[in-house]
Amino acid sequence: MGREAVDAATLRRWLEVYAARLTERADHLTRLDAAIGDGDHGINMDRGFRAVRERVLNPADEAPLDGLLKGVGMALLSTVGGAAGPLYGTFFLRMAARAGGKDRLSASELAAALEAGVEGVRQRGRAEPGDKTMVDALLPGVEALSRALAEGRDLAAALAAAAAAAEEGCRATVPLVARKGRASYLGERSAGHQDPGATSSAYLLRALARVVSES
Ligand code: ADP
Ligand code: MG
Repeated sequence: MGREAVDAATLRRWLEVYAARLTERADHLTRLDAAIGDGDHGINMDRGFRAVRERVLNPADEAPLDGLLKGVGMALLSTVGGAAGPLYGTFFLRMAARAGGKDRLSASELAAALEAGVEGVRQRGRAEPGDKTMVDALLPGVEALSRALAEGRDLAAALAAAAAAAEEGCRATVPLVARKGRASYLGERSAGHQDPGATSSAYLLRALARVVSES
């Protein structure tokens, strides 16, 4: 496989690495959510990706690329209560729709699929950048990806730039006042805490950067 394309096997590794990261960081995510929400974000994400492992990653029959992404979206929609489940579910369903029936995605096709996923999150959650949500990590992440590819960087380098931008966007949620989701009920008191969903979203792009750099 050319370095500049990802296939279903690479996406499976992405999901496995992300699922493992969520298990490892579940307590941390839950503590972040306890500060400005209801303390279940780590539990929600871990539950969702355990279902992804059981239903999508473990079965022997290997789904095609779009079927894999669709399966992830469906598993999240059906197992995760709370705001983040349907939002991440939408992210993967929109990615699947944009990927279409292809066996592999070129760098620009992967970027387009990720952008479609983020657009789905924005439509479903109606969050704008700066509202202190997962959009504040995802959007700068996918924008950095497109920018790096347009500058001629290879996919691994572009994804590393995307992950770094998402991490920076996540840290930048600390001083923000939440305007969407449960944290918005706190008003000004939500400032001074990092958004849990932005944190799990930064992990998502970091996991992708990692598996592509290793493939
Ligand atoms: P809940 O808030 O229902 O308990 P979680 O704790 O799993 O769900 O997820 C909380 C995260 O969901 C927040 O940190 C935020 O990033 C994200 N979120 C909440 N509402 C929205 C929204 N409308 N748009 C985008 N992201 C949102
Ligand atoms: Mg919560």
